[in-house]
Amino acid sequence: MGSVAFYPGSFDPITNGHLDIIQRARRCFDIIYVGIGQNSTKARGRFVPGQRVQLVQTALTEIGLSSEKHVFVSTFTGVVWEAAKRVEADVIIRGLRALSDFEFEQQFAHTVKQFAPNIESVFLMTRPENSYLSSSLVRELSSLDQDISSLVPRCVVEALK
Ligand code: ADP
Repeated sequence: MGSVAFYPGSFDPITNGHLDIIQRARRCFDIIYVGIGQNSTKARGRFVPGQRVQLVQTALTEIGLSSEKHVFVSTFTGVVWEAAKRVEADVIIRGLRALSDFEFEQQFAHTVKQFAPNIESVFLMTRPENSYLSSSLVRELSSLDQDISSLVPRCVVEALK
């Protein structure tokens, strides 16, 4: 089997920033599992986990990345490294946008190292044009009736209507 990477997050909803990370991660690893966390401590989101899975799958299909291309999407419960181990991932992917992401991500990577020493955390730097982009910004703009079509895949624009 080739290299396997697990990309966890809330994806509420998926944005062009997430999609870019998935595309670039797929060039580095043979199989990508996108994991949508079900037990985030974050407040109840805009979409339920099942809807987020659907949106990620549709968005990936729109850019030609689906299970045939070895990119899989599902929800997970429990800690990230256990979910990564269940799919036999050697790597956990995270995206980095700004210095403000770094502190959390460093703590997260150290925690993974402590509890799952065989898993590597790999960070992909966002593209400059996506560096301000987050799911919460998308939710906020959408609730204020702004055109978010340059920030998210088409299926998310439709779903937020
Ligand atoms: P979480 O709740 O774990 O932060 P998110 O769905 O917000 O989940 O993000 C999942 C991963 O994608 C995180 O590693 C995050 O830093 C990364 N990410 C989010 N938005 C972007 C973006 N615009 N560019 C690059 N990476 C991003």
